[in-house]
Amino acid sequence: MALVRVALGARSYDIVIEQGALDRVGDSLAPYARKGRLVVVTDANVASTQLPRLHASLRAANIAIEPIILPPGEQTKSWRHLEQLLDALLALEIERGDHIVALGGGVIGDLVGFAASILKRGCHFVQLPTTLLAQVDSSVGGKTAINAKAGKNLIGSFYQPALVLIDPSTLDSLPPRETRAGYAEVVKYGLIDDPDFFEWCHANAQALLAGDPDARTIAIQRSVQAKAAIVADDERETSGRRALLNLGHTFGHALEADTGFSDTLLHGEGVAAGMALAFRYSARLGLCAQADADRVTAHLKAVGLPYDLSTAHVQAGGAELVGHMLHDKKMAAGTLPFLLARGIGQTFLSKDVALDDVAAFLDADR
Ligand code: NAD
Ligand code: ZN
Repeated sequence: MALVRVALGARSYDIVIEQGALDRVGDSLAPYARKGRLVVVTDANVASTQLPRLHASLRAANIAIEPIILPPGEQTKSWRHLEQLLDALLALEIERGDHIVALGGGVIGDLVGFAASILKRGCHFVQLPTTLLAQVDSSVGGKTAINAKAGKNLIGSFYQPALVLIDPSTLDSLPPRETRAGYAEVVKYGLIDDPDFFEWCHANAQALLAGDPDARTIAIQRSVQAKAAIVADDERETSGRRALLNLGHTFGHALEADTGFSDTLLHGEGVAAGMALAFRYSARLGLCAQADADRVTAHLKAVGLPYDLSTAHVQAGGAELVGHMLHDKKMAAGTLPFLLARGIGQTFLSKDVALDDVAAFLDADR
């Protein structure tokens, strides 16, 4: 078992990482069950694969489960499903002191966290993340959100859970493509500021992706520690340090936009290609050794993630992709804040990247 404490000012909460935890979670969740019952929100995929495990361990601790099962997919982060969820929680007579359990990926975590933050002006919630992305990224840091017509994650709050309990064995039922996409956010922490962790990833990625419990646990623990440290420094994204977590995301979002935010390119796959592009662009600017950019590209390729426009199935040219970047970022006179690198583990925020140069790079990188 590994434990990471997230400290935010006077408050703190624990992130527990433990192989098989879901099968014996009854005792740790008992303090959160009022009148011997717990409300668990999940999606239909997780309900058929992981909910029975939670059910059995709660039953063994004499806790009854009230499941609320939502449809899977990004569309569930909507006003409509938020309203349905809040009504369902109110129908179960949830009280302010109650804890709502979110069992699922980032969609369930973001939606339930937001619902918990506004229901009765705030009730507690516990996260049991079941995708690698949720375990290493979305369950840490307290951002909650739903999507709006104008864009993703535009309506939400900063709201911290009471506890995050991560059982790496939940990944056994996750489609391998989803695990690989989540892995992009793992190796991201190495690329940001931890070259040793990049080396660990280089040596252990295949074992992790093949389901090795120790490799999964170490990867999750180091990722959670890295994110918790950045978040503790900059909880509400004011100092700029938290922006480092967006390595690969400016390029990545443009690729996701071009593929219509569809199954053609999962978020983590866009981030993988985006990180490779950020390193190759840094090399082109003479900031980073070409050998480092080549290592990043080769690593992503070796684990089966996209690493350029064609492996990301992107048709658009450079100008069009830069158009997508401008659409969701603030720009100052033809420049865009951009995360670039001086080497592996040496990411920094550059404020003066010329957009026409980025477009030319993207056209040349094909
Ligand atoms: P997801 O929740 O949609 O899960 C991906 C798919 O896997 C879904 O079909 C889900 O039903 C299924 N699934 C989940 N766990 C499973 C399991 N153990 N076995 C079988 N199937 C399982 O997507 P995600 O990638 O986990 O999260 C993406 C969301 O996270 C996005 O909405 C994104 O905006 C959000 N996010 C939030 C933060 C944050 O800081 N709050 C950070 C990154 C991403
Ligand atoms: Zn991401």
